[in-house]
Amino acid sequence: MVLKVTKILAFQTLSGIYSAREFVWWYNGHPDYSSLKPDLKSSDTAVILGQGNVALDVARILLRPTTELASTDIARHALSALEESSIRKVFLVGRRGPVQAALTAKELREVLGIKNMHIRIKETDLSVTPADEVEMKNSRIRKRIYELLSKAAAAAGTSESDPDQRELHFVFFRQPDRFLESNERKGHVSGVNLEKTILESAGSGKQLAVGTGEFEDLNCSLVLKAIGYKSVPINGLPFDHKKGVVPNVRGRVVSQTLESLSQTEPGLYVCGWLKRGPVGIIATNLYCAEETVGSISEDIEEGVFKSSKEGSKGLMQLLEKREVKKVDYSGWEKIDAKEKQMGTERNKPREKLVTWEDLLAAAAAN
Ligand code: NAP
Repeated sequence: MVLKVTKILAFQTLSGIYSAREFVWWYNGHPDYSSLKPDLKSSDTAVILGQGNVALDVARILLRPTTELASTDIARHALSALEESSIRKVFLVGRRGPVQAALTAKELREVLGIKNMHIRIKETDLSVTPADEVEMKNSRIRKRIYELLSKAAAAAGTSESDPDQRELHFVFFRQPDRFLESNERKGHVSGVNLEKTILESAGSGKQLAVGTGEFEDLNCSLVLKAIGYKSVPINGLPFDHKKGVVPNVRGRVVSQTLESLSQTEPGLYVCGWLKRGPVGIIATNLYCAEETVGSISEDIEEGVFKSSKEGSKGLMQLLEKREVKKVDYSGWEKIDAKEKQMGTERNKPREKLVTWEDLLAAAAAN
């Protein structure tokens, strides 16, 4: 086991391997990643590890016609690179089966609807076990996803093949073992070694992937890792390492006192993935934030804050003292207006500003 981990880590530095987060930040114009330059031209194949909605997001960017992407708010540098991309086949690799794919129906339908794209799913991967049936009976989402994938696989089997079309392969029951290095291009990835898996019951209706010891290679020149997220602890704050969250009650941070776990820290709140773990769509975050804001409002009304904290004035003073460059709401509005105006000129909802200098300059403009 120690050997295996060492082997994987040793190849982490191969070029052509990116986390989905880096790739998403690149095409969305995040200033820290706008110069990423992912390798889109070395072959026609990309592998995405993981079968969640982030994996689907990046597959969609790689496969959707650039004529359609041009009218979205994608960053200009990403659109130019994608216009020259040679990627035509994308493999979405999941360690479990189609019943367990961590997708939601709306997002899957969007990807399945990409023009001129062929879906490939092995028929044998679509056969379900009694345990799968139970999972589908207990979850409408799981059943819907399975039905959508089965329908897409059946439709693909009967469509005409077109040499220019793109392919999206759903690869089930495979877990990554190690990355392969190219013989021709030293230091560059040439594929992923995958271990076949089977599902074993983990109790309460859950099935987990277990390696079978059988391996196979999947060749590619681009790998995107989309296997989820985990929050990191913040100095001085309690942290549940297993769940990757700051323990809280409706957003109120639970104090470190072990004897009374439900005792909360007055004036300290958390929301988002740090509060509930790395799951959920945008609407989930809205409800999550509303709950935390509700707790803050209740505490203000009930006079919970005993200490005389300075509030936003104190925060501004601290930021000044630490020489942190900050953008206030009116600065954000100026950035928003500038991006929208630049977008209008190019027939897009917005053209993103992709450097810190440009963002700060727009925020400071009169
Ligand atoms: P996710 O939903 O947790 O999916 C992670 C995927 O990676 C799963 O297929 C998981 O398989 C796999 N995985 C995890 N660890 C692995 C390992 N060690 N080896 C192999 N595979 C592994 O994560 P995500 O896609 O990053 O999404 C995070 C959250 O954001 C989700 O709730 C998602 O729905 C949400 N999101 C929403 C939208 C949207 O609303 N449009 C867009 C993007 C993201 P297992 O299931 O076997 O663990």
